[in-house]
Amino acid sequence: MKLDVDALRYLSKDDFRVLTAVEMGMRNHEIVPAELVDRIAGLKHGGTYKVLKNLLKHKLVHHDSSKYDGFRLTYLGYDFLAIKTLVNRGVFAAVGRQIGVGKESDIFEVATEDGTVLAMKLHRLGRISFRAVKSKRDYLMHRTNYNWLYLSRLAALKEYAFMKALGEHGFPVPDAVDCNRHCVVMSLVQGYPLVQVKQLQHPEEVFETIIGLVVRLAEHGLIHCDFNEFNIMIDDDERVTMIDFPQMVSVSHRNAQMYFDRDVECIYKFFSRRFNLSDQEDSEEGDRSESDTEENGRPSFSSIAKSARFLDKELAASGFTRKDQDEIEKFIEGTGQKDTLSSDDEVLAEEEGTSNEVNDAVATNLNSLHLADQHELSESCGDKAAAGALLHS
Ligand code: ADP
Ligand code: MG
Repeated sequence: MKLDVDALRYLSKDDFRVLTAVEMGMRNHEIVPAELVDRIAGLKHGGTYKVLKNLLKHKLVHHDSSKYDGFRLTYLGYDFLAIKTLVNRGVFAAVGRQIGVGKESDIFEVATEDGTVLAMKLHRLGRISFRAVKSKRDYLMHRTNYNWLYLSRLAALKEYAFMKALGEHGFPVPDAVDCNRHCVVMSLVQGYPLVQVKQLQHPEEVFETIIGLVVRLAEHGLIHCDFNEFNIMIDDDERVTMIDFPQMVSVSHRNAQMYFDRDVECIYKFFSRRFNLSDQEDSEEGDRSESDTEENGRPSFSSIAKSARFLDKELAASGFTRKDQDEIEKFIEGTGQKDTLSSDDEVLAEEEGTSNEVNDAVATNLNSLHLADQHELSESCGDKAAAGALLHS
């Protein structure tokens, strides 16, 4: 699969109409029969079939006849729909080079009409973890909801909602700009992931800032759950920005204490390894007097969580609900920290055949691609008639 966004230039209104019809069909079909696509798209004279061929050629849909004959969206198809929508909304006008490959995301630079560069994160939840979870067939058997489309969209919405809420509460996070489908657009963070930083002028201060963030998050009822050197960005002035929120949980989560301690431990370990900060746990007993907000020299979860306030209202304002949180937690549970790839995971990523080819194609192709003058795609995933056709199918 190639993410050659250049193809966006050549896709017609009908192409997007049919692509959107496949997406709509996937709300209740794993594989969407061509007749249903045709009915939703409502093109004249069987035009849908010709268009499907074109979409297939560009690898925006996949033809599947394993169970019955039909089509499903590919990641690329989904990417195109999201990008197209965001371009039509005027959120950005061009897609640039790839700046990050997460285990479950691809991150690109995008540019607005006035040349401001932003970051676009395409969520690929399911690229790895879903395969891992898939092996637990029983668990998933009756959960048709658990497909990558749904999960990636949920992850993006969650990330957007958290980024916005945290930003409003003064946390150092990227500005949340917009979100569509599995795609989040945010400000570009200057600097580098901490993992790439070999030296710091003031390691103690940076350390205190970072631990302070974990504590402050907990005071706001939240645990990052993936708080480590991959998800902390640091700029030349040693200012810290935290990123990557799809796995956050509430301090009321039954494993909250464990997640909190794990986040704290990650930071302690990293700083003692990389910057030789002495680990206070190893220091002599009685060296320092502990306050009631500390245990073994570490921030104490129980005393912080007791007085936590929650951001539920702010999150709901972005459309992310408690129910969404429960759904995504069920999925993320047990998949571990996603930024620390195991060798098994890498094998899976290769099998999926998405990341590398996609990234190469985009990195070489998109430096100055302008998408603004594309044909219009209705933002609302097709018109009312199409929605009606789906409901009555
Ligand atoms: P994942 O969930 O896949 O780990 P992340 O959100 O952690 O994805 O992003 C992966 C990498 O992309 C980061 O380590 C960072 O290098 C880069 N990145 C992500 N968001 C931004 C941003 N807003 N600005 C600059 N770089 C970013
Ligand atoms: Mg990350």
